[in-house]
Amino acid sequence: MFKVGYRVARSMAEETILESTERTSGREALRKNVQAAIALAGAIRSTLGPKGLDKLLVDDQGETLVTNDGVTVLETARVEHPVAKMIISASSTQDRVARDGTTTTVVICAEMLRNAWQLVRQGVHPAIIARGYALAENFALSALDELAINASTEQIESAIETSLAGKLDKGMERHLANISLQAGKTILSEGRADPTRVKIIKQTGGNMQESTLITGLALAKSRIHPEMKERGGPGSILILDGGIERRKPQFETKLNITSAGMVDAFRNAESKSILKQVENLVEIGCDLLVCKEGVDDEARQALSKHGILTYRRVEKKDLDLLSRACGANLVPDAGRASKEDLGAFIKTREELRGGVNHWILDAEDSGATLIARGSTQSVLDEVERCFADGLGVACQLLEEPVLLPGAGATQVALGRRLRRYAETVPGREQLAIEAWADALESIPRALAANAGYDGIDSLLKLTAAHNDSGDYMGLDLNDGEAKDTISRGILEPKSITQQAISGATEAAISILRIDDVLWAQMDAQVPDEVQEQLQGFGAE
Ligand code: ADP
Ligand code: MG
Repeated sequence: MFKVGYRVARSMAEETILESTERTSGREALRKNVQAAIALAGAIRSTLGPKGLDKLLVDDQGETLVTNDGVTVLETARVEHPVAKMIISASSTQDRVARDGTTTTVVICAEMLRNAWQLVRQGVHPAIIARGYALAENFALSALDELAINASTEQIESAIETSLAGKLDKGMERHLANISLQAGKTILSEGRADPTRVKIIKQTGGNMQESTLITGLALAKSRIHPEMKERGGPGSILILDGGIERRKPQFETKLNITSAGMVDAFRNAESKSILKQVENLVEIGCDLLVCKEGVDDEARQALSKHGILTYRRVEKKDLDLLSRACGANLVPDAGRASKEDLGAFIKTREELRGGVNHWILDAEDSGATLIARGSTQSVLDEVERCFADGLGVACQLLEEPVLLPGAGATQVALGRRLRRYAETVPGREQLAIEAWADALESIPRALAANAGYDGIDSLLKLTAAHNDSGDYMGLDLNDGEAKDTISRGILEPKSITQQAISGATEAAISILRIDDVLWAQMDAQVPDEVQEQLQGFGAE
C-alpha cells in the first residue's frame, strides 16, 4: 500500500494535479491529523515513566522484541499516516540529540494538537494558535533557567539512573548508571565527551551485573604466538588493512614444471617476499602489528623472533578504532609501510574476562570498552541499548552539568508560570498559551496514571504542593504523594527537557499549519487479462 500526504501550493493546475488523489482539506484535515497524533501517542503513553509497561513487538519474520522505549516502538511499527510520521521523526530527532525524552516528546505533541483542536472548535484560527504556541515555547525555554540547578557528581549519577528508570531491575540500573558515568569521565577531554569513543563487546553467559568497564580499547583476541611478549611500555603500532601471507592467485593459474628445482625456486621467492615484509617492519621500528587478514606461519616465526607483538583477523571496524586511538594510518602492504604510517601506544596487555582472552590497548585516544554480559542475545541487546542511553546522558551532563527536577515537577512549575504569563498577553493567543501549558501537564498525569493513580487528582495534588513548598515537588509513584525531587535524586538533564519542548512544539505547529492533505490513489492496478477472468467469474 502506498500513501502520500503533502501540502499543496494552490495553483492554476490544481484540478489536474488532484485528479487521482483523495483530498481532505480545512477543518476536516486538521481533525484527521489530530486524530492520527492522538492515536500515535495512545500507543506509547502507557510506557512512560518508571512504572510504564513494556510492549511486545513482533516483526513479519516472527522475531520478537520486548521494550519500553517509546522511540523503539514507533520506529519498529509500520506507521503510514504522514502526520504520524512527522511526529515519529520529531521523536527520532530527540533520540539522536538528547538520547532520552522520546516518549515525552510524542505525548506532549499529541496533547498540544488535541488542545488546539478544542480551540479551533471554539472558533480560534489555527494561525493564532500557532502564534500562541510559539510564544509559550519561548517563554518556557527561558523559564527553564530559573528552575535549573548545577549538578554535583552524585546528582549526575542520579540523573543517569533516572533516565534508565523502569528499563531494567533497580540494581542493574544503578550499576549501569555507575559505569556509564565512569565511561563518560574516561573519554572526557577538553570539556567534550564523544560517546563513539566507547566500544561495546557483547559476551553471552554470566549475569548482566557482571558487565564491566575497561579503560582502553579491548578486543576479544589473543596474540598469534605465545612467545611474543606483552608490551608493558610505550611503542609504535602498524595497522595493516591486509595480512602477511603467501599470495593466493585471484584466478586459476597453471605452472609448467620443466625442472626439479622450479618448485623450490617458486617457494623461495614467496618466502623471500614474506621475510622482506617483516624486515621492513623491523626497519621502520614497528613494535606492534595488527592485521585484518592472516599471518603465515613463516611470518609468525619471523615476527616473534624480532619481538613484534602481532594480532591478526581483526575486524575492519576495530582497525578503524585502533587507527583513531593511536593516530596510525591503515596500510595495505607491510612491505611498503613507512615510519609515517606508524601510530603510538602507551601499553598493551591481555586479560581473561569471563573465560575469554581480551587484548587491551592503552593509547592517547583509546577511550573505554564495556564488556556486556547477559544470559541471552536479547538480554545483551537490552544492556547495550540501556548503556548507550546512559552513556549519552552522562556525556551531555559532563559537557553541561545542568539539571531539572523530574517526576512532573518541571512541567507543573512551567505550567504555573505560563498561566501567569498568559494573563499579560492580549488577544486570543492567551488561550493558546494556556492550552500549551495544559499539554505539558499531560506528563505528570500520564506518569501518575501509569502507576495506577488518578491523573487529574495527582496533578491537583502537585499543583497544591508547588504552591506550598516550591518548584521541585514531583510525584512519588510508590505512594502517589508529592515529594521533593532534589533530595530523592529524580533529576534530568536540562537539554532533554529543552529538546522535548522545542521538538514537540515545532512538530505541532507545522501540523497545525496543514490545511490540505492529498492522498495518492491507492487502488491496485489490475492487469487486463485478470480483469477479464474476474468478469467471467461466477457467470453461467
Ligand atoms: P522518555 O522516553 O520520554 O524518556 P520514560 O519512560 O523514560 O520516557 O519516562 C521519563 C519520565 O519519567 C520523565 O518525566 C521522568 O521525570 C519520569 N521519571 C523517571 N524516574 C522517575 C521516578 N523515580 N519517579 C517519578 N518519575 C520518574
Ligand atoms: Mg527516558
